[in-house]
Amino acid sequence: MRLPIIAGNWKMHMTKNGAVEFIKELEKEVKDTDVEVVICPPATLLNILKEAAKGTNIKIGAQNMHWEKQGAFTGEVSPIMLKDLDIDYCIIGHSERRQYFGETNETVNKKIKSAIDHGINPIVCIGETLEVRKAGNTNSLLKEQVTEAFKNITDEEAKKIVVAYEPIWAIGTGETATPEMANETIAYIREVIKDLYGEDISEEIRIQYGGSVKPSNVQELMNQEDIDGALVGGASLKADSFSQIVNF
Ligand code: PGA
Repeated sequence: MRLPIIAGNWKMHMTKNGAVEFIKELEKEVKDTDVEVVICPPATLLNILKEAAKGTNIKIGAQNMHWEKQGAFTGEVSPIMLKDLDIDYCIIGHSERRQYFGETNETVNKKIKSAIDHGINPIVCIGETLEVRKAGNTNSLLKEQVTEAFKNITDEEAKKIVVAYEPIWAIGTGETATPEMANETIAYIREVIKDLYGEDISEEIRIQYGGSVKPSNVQELMNQEDIDGALVGGASLKADSFSQIVNF
């Protein structure tokens, strides 16, 4: 059985005051959950939230990192810096980073390797545009994204990866993939992983759905066999709605 994992991606939102209160409020609501709970704030809040979440079952993740340990990379955050704060997870290859910041399957692969080397668990985002879906090319695109992301990743390393399937047309649009469609696509992603690593590992790797997940649709999504959790944007900005999602 795969442990469900529900992560909030705050994107470029939130400042100190609200953020610490958020953790205090969330802590009370999710202390008895069986779900793994992760909050991914902007880099400026990682330290303070890691402190605020101490002694709770809330894990803290980054939204991005560079693959190099250190160096002349102005504006970047390295895996050593994340580890210095004891950060548990890092989102890698979110579609907004692919779209606006030039991330490619190759940089995603480098970041995954580096994160694992530094003891940070990657949440790797993949997903298709509406154009790709309409053209019937979703599966071939996802196969390429998965294959490239997992390139030169060993069996043991692969197990540490969480995959987030996020159809780009469902992100921030209020438009969710139907639970059946999301499940079918995630089952296909698991097939691709099975071809790469075999059945046991493909059954172990957790695959989340992301894209307009909210309290009203989370249960149907989580009831699907292959959906192991959610990556939540907009609805993760309020402790109340995010805790309802975790406690689906
Ligand atoms: P959304 O974002 O829940 O606001 O659609 C999801 C994401 O981008 O991870």
